[in-house]
Amino acid sequence: MPDLPTALPEAWSALYEAAAVFHSTLVSAKVLESIVEHALRAFSADGAAVYRLDTDGKSLVCVATLGFCSSTTAPLDDIHRAVLSGEFARIEGSSSLACAPLSADNFIGMLCVCPHTCVQQSAEWHLRELAEQAASALSHALHYEALLKSDQQRTEFVHVVTHELRSPVVGAQSLLRVLLQGLIGELTPQQHDILNRLSRRMDSLLSLINDLLALAAARTRADQPLERLDLAAVARESADVFVYDAKEKAVALDIQGDDQLMPVRATHEGLRRILDNLVGNAVKYTPNGGNVTVHITRREDQAIIQVTDSGIGIPREALERIGETFFRASNAQSSGIMGTGLGLATVKALVDGFDGSLEITSEIGKGSTFTVCLPINGSEPLPSP
Ligand code: ADP
Repeated sequence: MPDLPTALPEAWSALYEAAAVFHSTLVSAKVLESIVEHALRAFSADGAAVYRLDTDGKSLVCVATLGFCSSTTAPLDDIHRAVLSGEFARIEGSSSLACAPLSADNFIGMLCVCPHTCVQQSAEWHLRELAEQAASALSHALHYEALLKSDQQRTEFVHVVTHELRSPVVGAQSLLRVLLQGLIGELTPQQHDILNRLSRRMDSLLSLINDLLALAAARTRADQPLERLDLAAVARESADVFVYDAKEKAVALDIQGDDQLMPVRATHEGLRRILDNLVGNAVKYTPNGGNVTVHITRREDQAIIQVTDSGIGIPREALERIGETFFRASNAQSSGIMGTGLGLATVKALVDGFDGSLEITSEIGKGSTFTVCLPINGSEPLPSP
């Protein structure tokens, strides 16, 4: 490696700036784009390109370019091999070319620039450093993309398995109902009791399967279309589902708010699922005689959905874990109230997908408030309602 260039402060600040830009995204295609853009500018070059060693190990593939790299693949020659093994290459011919190794994990490649004039001595230091910063950013992006991919594969696997499980469980449950109703023959009290317990277990299994399906669907849903939604109307639809559960416990269930169309970035189905989970939980975790209020309002460019209850509350130490997959607070577990710990994970995934936020405040024994904020985008064109 040659000595540091004399124009040290400028060179370092250009490198810091490059590193900040390269690391500002976790999308590898964008990192590559910014690498060639920066290299082109830093060397006042006619062209810049990043090449990657192909999976066959015999050729180079151009994966990002500005200004040159007309052929997308090139067979490996001795100079390429030297660069891929860590050397710097400077070629002076009808046009100059400088190449530095750029390797990150399973990405083995090189960064090349084609300056107007012949390649300066200091170019080696600068291009090598630039390629190192580029490699580090590329490595982060590639790791992140690999994690995303494996997370998606896991979600898809859960989705397929639970989908396959659902039909036999639903079938078994309906056969049990036939038996319990005595349609096949009279049951002894003991038989009735055993089948009843089995049926309750099947109900729990079915609600776990349904919750897993909903979570997988919430996590895989992409490109949400913008809908003009009447939030208070969706909240009322949701409250209708829980009206009997609330009545049974003498819990007052109230919907308050402005009836207005709010162009939120959400789907009707997703918003229903958010409200069903929040309202369902509020009713479920509120003891007899309590109250649950759903309040819909608009604050500047935010649609606010607030579900408040006078229920059991959430212990302070559990608050930050609420929304983790399968997490249930200790007081919910000891209360005997059934749950899977998947509903709020689904709410979180949906709210994230709608670019919104979820906030929870709670006091043990007094109640909880779940606040969902969704951005209102008034300037974007909307499909007709
Ligand atoms: P569950 O099926 O257990 O209700 P959720 O994912 O919907 O799963 O909620 C996760 C946990 O958050 C619950 O188990 C409970 O501990 C807590 N929780 C959610 N909503 C409320 C609420 N309204 N009041 C008190 N605790 C709640």
